[in-house]
Amino acid sequence: MQFASQSGEQGQPPPVNPAAQIDSLFEAPGPLLAGLIFVSIGAALTALKTGEPLVWACVAFLVLAGSVRAIDLRRYQARKSNVTAEAAKRWQTRYQIGAMIQAAAIGTWCGTTLLATDDAVSHMIALSVTTGIAAGGAGRAYGRPSIFHFQAVLIFTPAVLALAWRGTPYYIAMAVVSAAFLLAIMQLSANLHRIFMGAVVARERESALAGQFDTALNNMPHGLCMFHLDGQLAVMNHRFAAMMSLPDNLPQSGASARDIIAACVKAGAISAANGEQIIAGLESSRENEIITVDTNIERNRSLSWTVQPMADGGAVLLLEDITERRNAEAKISHLARYDDLTALPNRVNFRDEIEHLLAVSHDAGQLSALLFIDLDQFKQVNDTLGHPCGDQLLCAVANRLREMLRPEDFVARFGGDEFVVFQQNLNTPEDAAALARRIVERLSERYRIDNHLVEIGASVGIALTSPDGTSADTLLKNADMALYRAKADGRGTFCFFRDEMAATVEARRILELDLRKALANEEFELFFQPLVNLKSGKITTCEALLRWNHPVRGTVSPVDIIPVAEDMGLIVDLGRWILRRACMECMKWPESVSVAVNFSPQQFHQRDVLSEIRYALEVSGLPAHRLEIEITESSLLRNTQLTHDILSQLHALGVRISLDDFGTGYSSLSYLHNFPMQKVKIDRSFLEGIDADRPLTLLRGVARLSADLGMSVVVEGIETNEQLELISADGTVTEGQGYLFSRPVPAVRIRQLLNASHGRRMPDDQLALVSSRSA
Ligand code: C2E
Ligand code: MG
Ligand code: MG
Repeated sequence: MQFASQSGEQGQPPPVNPAAQIDSLFEAPGPLLAGLIFVSIGAALTALKTGEPLVWACVAFLVLAGSVRAIDLRRYQARKSNVTAEAAKRWQTRYQIGAMIQAAAIGTWCGTTLLATDDAVSHMIALSVTTGIAAGGAGRAYGRPSIFHFQAVLIFTPAVLALAWRGTPYYIAMAVVSAAFLLAIMQLSANLHRIFMGAVVARERESALAGQFDTALNNMPHGLCMFHLDGQLAVMNHRFAAMMSLPDNLPQSGASARDIIAACVKAGAISAANGEQIIAGLESSRENEIITVDTNIERNRSLSWTVQPMADGGAVLLLEDITERRNAEAKISHLARYDDLTALPNRVNFRDEIEHLLAVSHDAGQLSALLFIDLDQFKQVNDTLGHPCGDQLLCAVANRLREMLRPEDFVARFGGDEFVVFQQNLNTPEDAAALARRIVERLSERYRIDNHLVEIGASVGIALTSPDGTSADTLLKNADMALYRAKADGRGTFCFFRDEMAATVEARRILELDLRKALANEEFELFFQPLVNLKSGKITTCEALLRWNHPVRGTVSPVDIIPVAEDMGLIVDLGRWILRRACMECMKWPESVSVAVNFSPQQFHQRDVLSEIRYALEVSGLPAHRLEIEITESSLLRNTQLTHDILSQLHALGVRISLDDFGTGYSSLSYLHNFPMQKVKIDRSFLEGIDADRPLTLLRGVARLSADLGMSVVVEGIETNEQLELISADGTVTEGQGYLFSRPVPAVRIRQLLNASHGRRMPDDQLALVSSRSA
């Protein structure tokens, strides 16, 4: 572990606490006091021995100075615990003054004794006491060597000068020795000071490092215990104790790893088994690198224990709370395998699961079925009631499916309105059919969603496992094909997969490929069929109808092309091509003739339909009033407001809208009223059995209503003169379209027809001629 600050080693040493230095001056007052007494006694002896008054005066000075210092020392001892840096400075000054006065007193006494008396014993006492005091001072005042040096000079200089003054060789020699001694003790005190300073700095640095270590240890997010080589606890941080709910009074010194883990188990933070695992990890950590033990406890916490061996043979035990990480991982993995909305398994999960179930049922020789379910009319619910209702409906469907299944069956949501059920261990295929039937019935029952009563249907495709083994992918593909057929069969039903379905799907796949190529290679062509004004007999509009002349397939009907192109999403590109080509062709016709272009619902609801139409008019130069867009009722079902807006904008642009195939869909008369449209094309199915009264009455009713609403009325599919006469008799139908006038013909042909019809009313026999020629 690296500690944040290493400044003590590399940069400046940490500042030395001034109180620590003052302490060294005042510490051990015993020797100092003893020295004071010793020097006072020595002085008193010399005074007694010589009777010299000057010496007696020195004794008095010494006793007085010594007493003041002794009192000062006591006062410092009493207050030293709360000495501030400021106070430390004052104490130092006091010490210095006291020491100087004392030193001056000793020096004066020694010098006076040597000069004013001739008593050799007194000389010896004075010199030896002075030397002893100086030597003692060197050992005590190392904290402030400058003080001591000054003190030593004050003590010794009078003695050295007095010895030299006496002038005899022995005294001069003593003066030299004393001077050398003075220098030696000054040097000694300087050395002691250096050693002392080193020790003080080291101690300060050590305590700073210990403080940093402590802060780091107790602020780390991990719990930590450090063990010595002998397994005894060296350090434990607060986090560890808190995470393990250890009692505050847990004895730590001398505790072994086992004691600590046992305390964790006792506190209920880990299980006994987990405790053993951790102990084993700690014991083996000497050989191994790092071991990690995960503990899961009742409090739903996940803890990770890591044992890291240390260089000196000890080990560090790190404890991390990984609950949040584990929960996040679990959530991500749940999201990846379950559908967020219904909480059912998703596609990935289902595939993995049935791969396994298939293997089991194959080994047991069981029959299983995969049911692919698709909701009918779900899209309409979503579009009309909004997505939140659609979501609630999907949840309700998921619940119904869950309730219907046996525990061993498996249901998943594949996205959108697709659900899949895997039914295991069937006696006969009839079991699968029975379940499919129940699913269709149950899902078709009414739902109550947000105070709306909603009805939808369901179609089911069933694929059975084969005794030779079937892969999950094949089963899914087959069930999907069967579903496709069930939907084609009118929805609300189920269908078993049969081998020939694969051929149909393959054919469709090839058709899709061909269609893409055809669009790229412009293999499509537009045919045009005229709409004739029944009064004037003139061609007012020509409807563009798509044709595809395939080298092998022959002429392919738009009825086969358009739905496939819609499914493939190709309709937008194809529609754009048709629209531009139709507009350009119309530019070649007489000005009074318009062009009608069919728009499929998907094409009509593309985001930029308006700009597409504007652009087609712009590039072709066709005036907007010569373009008619044919939409069917299904285009009006979706997003009513948006549809209304688009139609209004088209209307504002000058483009006409006609409602195609009226009478085949919902035939809702409200559409005629609610949307801005200019034309209604009544589907040719109205002409079937027109000679009977009922359809004719119906046709006339719709025609009259539309006319009253200001719309022109077209009847499609007029094939005979009788039909034409019946329709024309009433006078409400404005235009007619049908083989009687002309079949859809290529662009070149329509131009000839227009030239022929334009400018004059076409007599009936000529119309018939037109029709027979174009046929
Ligand atoms: P639609 O828009 O109703 O077009 C009229 C259809 O009726 C045409 O079939 C036309 O050939 C046929 N028809 C016209 N007069 C008679 C008649 O007297 N008797 C009979 N039996 N049929 C008649 P077609 O060309 O096969 O087109 C079928 C449908 O395909 C169209 O119905 C239209 O919905 C769609 N379609 C055709 N071309 C396009 C296109 O370019 N885009 C889109 N989106 N759909 C198109
Ligand atoms: Mg049409
Ligand atoms: Mg039509």
